[in-house]
Amino acid sequence: MGYKRVLVKFSGEALSGNSGFGIDVKILEYIAGEIRTLVDNGVEVGIVIGGGNIIRGVSAAQGGIIRRTSGDYMGMLATVINAVAMQEALEYLGVDVRVQSAIEIKEVCESYIYRRAIRHLEKGRVVVFGSGTGNPFFTTDSAATLRAVEIGADVIIKATKVDGVYDKDPHKFSDAKMLESIS
Ligand code: UDP
Repeated sequence: MGYKRVLVKFSGEALSGNSGFGIDVKILEYIAGEIRTLVDNGVEVGIVIGGGNIIRGVSAAQGGIIRRTSGDYMGMLATVINAVAMQEALEYLGVDVRVQSAIEIKEVCESYIYRRAIRHLEKGRVVVFGSGTGNPFFTTDSAATLRAVEIGADVIIKATKVDGVYDKDPHKFSDAKMLESIS
């Protein structure tokens, strides 16, 4: 593949299939199978999953009852639910995997410890990074970039609904232009 270490990011919505909510185990198994192909080819894999299939801070805060900060923490917890689901699917397919959360939830998974994450990767274990960056007012795209830089990933692979980076949302603007390269 040409890459030693990669960071794979996909949105929570990717897990929900056609229903748009929750986790479709068939899709989970499919994605885990794709990850296994990377691992079988000797690639070290870190994963960041979003939480949009369960809750997003901005949406939760609409209506003014739930404050944005709490909504964002709820969103981060949602990413842990997805991370644990992905851990199950990878183990089901025989892949060694650990979940590390930026928010401490020690009964459920490890806490994010940079040096420990690197050690897992070196041993060929997939590391699923949960809770985004651990900070409200960020998204899991920021988390993916942050973790990719921290673990020294050669590339970020983002599985998403569009085929590249646009100057504006191509689903909303017909004149949106795809940027072929970006600094
Ligand atoms: N979130 C956050 N800080 C982070 C990452 C995520 O507060 O570092 C919250 C935020 O509310 C976000 C939600 O978690 O909307 C779920 O993440 P995201 O929207 O990125 O999920 P995706 O759209 O990729 O499924």
